[in-house]
Amino acid sequence: MPLPFPVFKPCPCGSGRSYGGCCGPRHTGERPAETPEALMRSRYAAYALRDTGYVRRTWHPDTCPPDLDLAGDDTRYTGLTVHRAQGEEVEFTATLVAGGRRQRLRERSTFTQVGGAWVYLDGVTP
Ligand SMILES: [Zn+2]
Repeated sequence: MPLPFPVFKPCPCGSGRSYGGCCGPRHTGERPAETPEALMRSRYAAYALRDTGYVRRTWHPDTCPPDLDLAGDDTRYTGLTVHRAQGEEVEFTATLVAGGRRQRLRERSTFTQVGGAWVYLDGVTP
């Protein structure tokens, strides 16, 4: 089960908007992500909230790891910076604390559409 998160609190994706006005409606399916950047942000927030279901639903079936499960993950997601969003690509840096160590992960992600919905395909370190 994803962690419960109040709609009035700042969204974990760091947009500065409330969760209810940002990634919340994407996680519930009420308002699917319109762009790759919106999807990328909502996936970051889903990792922060341990929402395995959402991360899976928004991952291309060909590249999604079959054993993905965020339930026991104790990583803290501490920030997201989007450097560039163009076409099907989004380049970003995520900061997190895993196993007591601060990390910065920079990735250029590629997204594609399946049945009219954006999904994450794969990513490389630029
Ligand atoms: Zn958000």
